[in-house]
Amino acid sequence: MTPATLERSLLSAIRTIPDYPKPGILFRDITTLLGDARAFRRAVDELVHPWAGAKIDKIAGIEARGFILGGAIAHQLSAGFIPIRKKGKLPHETVRVAYSLEYGIDEMEMHKDAVKPGEKVILVDDLIATGGTAEGAVKLLRQMGAEVVTACFVIDLPDLGGRAKLEALGVDVRTLVAFEGH
Ligand code: AMP
Repeated sequence: MTPATLERSLLSAIRTIPDYPKPGILFRDITTLLGDARAFRRAVDELVHPWAGAKIDKIAGIEARGFILGGAIAHQLSAGFIPIRKKGKLPHETVRVAYSLEYGIDEMEMHKDAVKPGEKVILVDDLIATGGTAEGAVKLLRQMGAEVVTACFVIDLPDLGGRAKLEALGVDVRTLVAFEGH
């Protein structure tokens, strides 16, 4: 499959919901992609591809859609999985960071013992918009000494500048499809 065909097939598997969760937002809904066996497999295979054979210790997934993609990627790369969650959901000792969203502000947490210093980690979420969420996750991982080797997303909203924000932090970014605007 050529990159253009792959991109078209992934784009057609993503549903757009206007004005969700608030007016003016075009919500890029990947539940349709996840429900399509071939599209789901292709997305995971493409995200994993550059790292096949590499020694990756952990995949960190951002709640909640990053858990689904991240779990599949962790399995493919024989890596462990780290959940990065909204505050108050993790039962053990955590590190916490505040972050800004395309539509609000929140806090996220990770277990303190989820990663050891020097471990190589891939960060995963479904979509990067302003990059505030992923930036917060990178901060948590680096605070505990992890090396964030890449951050990968199915969808990029390049007009919102998230990729550039992460790259300015020295994080390699990989995305599969892009939508103009927000
Ligand atoms: P941001 O922190 O601005 O990069 O926002 C990324 C996070 O918010 C991801 O966890 C996305 O799932 C979610 N998100 C932001 N904008 C959208 C959108 N337009 N459609 C779907 N999810 C979004």
